[in-house]
Amino acid sequence: MIYVLWGELYASVFERVKSSIGNTGRVLLAYNTNIDAVKYLGRKDLEERVEKAGKDEVFRYIDSLPGRIENVPQLLGSILWSVKRGKAAELFVESCSTRFYMKRWGWDELRMGGQAGIMANLLGGAYGVPVIVHIPQLSNLQASLFKGGPIYTPKAENGKLRFVHPRDFAGDEENCLHYIYEFPRGFRVFEVEAPRENRFIGSADDYNPNVYIRAEFKERFGEIAEGVELAIISGLQALTAENYREPLEVIEGHLETLNELEIPVHLEFAFTPDETVRKALLGLLGKFWSVGLNEVELASVMDVMGEKSLAEKLLARDPVDPIAVTEAMIKLAERTGVRRIHFHTYGYYLALTDYRGEFVRDALLFSALAAAAKAKLGDVRSIDDVIRAMDVPVNEKAKPVEDALVKEYGMKNGIAEVNGYQLAFIPTKIVMKPKSTVGIGDTISSSAFVGEFALH
Ligand code: ADP
Repeated sequence: MIYVLWGELYASVFERVKSSIGNTGRVLLAYNTNIDAVKYLGRKDLEERVEKAGKDEVFRYIDSLPGRIENVPQLLGSILWSVKRGKAAELFVESCSTRFYMKRWGWDELRMGGQAGIMANLLGGAYGVPVIVHIPQLSNLQASLFKGGPIYTPKAENGKLRFVHPRDFAGDEENCLHYIYEFPRGFRVFEVEAPRENRFIGSADDYNPNVYIRAEFKERFGEIAEGVELAIISGLQALTAENYREPLEVIEGHLETLNELEIPVHLEFAFTPDETVRKALLGLLGKFWSVGLNEVELASVMDVMGEKSLAEKLLARDPVDPIAVTEAMIKLAERTGVRRIHFHTYGYYLALTDYRGEFVRDALLFSALAAAAKAKLGDVRSIDDVIRAMDVPVNEKAKPVEDALVKEYGMKNGIAEVNGYQLAFIPTKIVMKPKSTVGIGDTISSSAFVGEFALH
């Protein structure tokens, strides 16, 4: 019975977003854009490379990752570390000769990387929403990864600021390359076997890890912000206690400018390993309208807020306990003053807002449709691709989640009133054999945030 309701709600939302999303003004996207060079590992090739680099030397790193990569045996050993565990890892590649080695090793595929870049291609390239994107380094290769459509980046020329498509920027800057070494489940090298599919990333990128901010954005942010209606900030996750102060100071200035212009800003919160940085981000959250995170990220935030047992509860059950999530969201909202929190996990989303309306829930539905389309098709090429996920079934495992929310908060049609906030819930659509889930979190958060303003 209840799933008839969700089927109807899903069916009605797409046309409404499609017809209104064109009215959204420009969306500012900052700060991370890079090139993902994806290599699908082959057993023979990798074994030969390991032999050549010295098997003993390489195997020194299979049980303890180096802090950063300074030579080829460390690179190959780190890849084996990931394979052995079926776990993702990412390390900075320091040495030029190792970078050159990776370049000659090559790649099978180039993809847009970095949340700002990925969202630019989705919002601008697929949805047709005009975006202004910060690109730390504009090389020809980086420019070629932008889709056509209303995607702009500011360029200072003869003292004037022009907004051009990245391909018309004619930049000859450096490549920020993230080499992604992917392996399937069961992948074997020597006696090592991967328990599940995953990837190791070696990043030859001197810009994004430090959140390098371009001169145009440092010197003329006021002009850039003036033509904007919404903003999405991302890419702060790699900062460390050593390098975070300078970029966060600049970003705080940007937030103040955006706040003065009354432009709602969303923070896409990716997992931030450094606790000092996580605390600093928590301190900045009050300057954001909205934040998007998953269960691991929400737990990590509870951790630095001193809510250890709540953090543990968030990671204890599958599906994630929605009452624990709601408690955590309320704590976060009360502590920081952020006006909207969008939580996503495998199977359902929640949004806590200090304002009310069905459009909050409906934007979540649109974003779940977009996520399912992305999983099903691998890439969302146009807004009409989103509707192709309508036949993906609504996740029935979310039923007990909904029942718990109905019981605890008297939720009706996915909406409840909790502690002076509105809580919106939706069960998502789950694609059983996804083509790709890379960047799916970015698809969810940006579609919901922009979708909400389109619907309102
Ligand atoms: P990433 O950093 O890879 O984008 P996130 O945790 O931010 O990861 O986002 C992953 C989200 O994608 C999950 O919370 C879930 O809602 C959604 N998702 C994952 N797999 C599927 C799938 N097969 N079908 C639909 N949605 C999915």
